Amino acid sequence: MNWIAVSQPIHEDMAVYRNDPQKRPVIETSRELAVHGMHESILHLPLHTGTHIDYPLHALPGGKSSSDYRMFPAEFDALVVDVTRAPVCIGLDEVRDLPLPGVEAVFIKTRRTLLRRFDPDFPWLTGEGAAWLAQFPLRFVGIDQLGIERNQPDHPTHRHLLGRDILIIEGLDLSSIDAGRRRFRAFSLGLRGVEAEPLLVFAAPVQGRAQPSLTFW
Ligand SMILES: [Zn+2]
Repeated sequence: MNWIAVSQPIHEDMAVYRNDPQKRPVIETSRELAVHGMHESILHLPLHTGTHIDYPLHALPGGKSSSDYRMFPAEFDALVVDVTRAPVCIGLDEVRDLPLPGVEAVFIKTRRTLLRRFDPDFPWLTGEGAAWLAQFPLRFVGIDQLGIERNQPDHPTHRHLLGRDILIIEGLDLSSIDAGRRRFRAFSLGLRGVEAEPLLVFAAPVQGRAQPSLTFW
């Protein structure tokens, strides 16, 4: 049975935060087959584009970078929380009663479909919600939006989580994943000394259940 990709494919037309051209990947052809005998490309990829992980250096002065971790490949139990019917502002009421003992990650599902265009009114996790989650020994908090918070001065959601060494995964595609506890695997590119990097994340197949027809990109 296939593991199901919950990270987004990377291409030039993908949704990027605030539709900012500086956050858009560019694939440049550097050598052409007809001219050079081989086709070669250069990928210009902003590190907060698509499915990616934020390390503490992103939001905390002197915070740890990717070089300070040896966690990938990672395999972990995550609780997928369906807030598709909840208010866009995901706060204490949405996270307070989550069954978190034994869970290593929380993935917040706000959408039923893959994000194809940036939504300026995207659902986000408040600082209070993050502070609650940060009480638990989680490794990751993830969301299927390109950002985990918006319009909060000083970025308390990032600071509460990263301050407790809980890494943030943004840009997941949870559209084919039901709410509940599930096993995941994550693989990084292995970039050193950076505040963020693209992540490949896969959900384990559920035993005894028919697989969705789209199990891969
Ligand atoms: Zn980020």
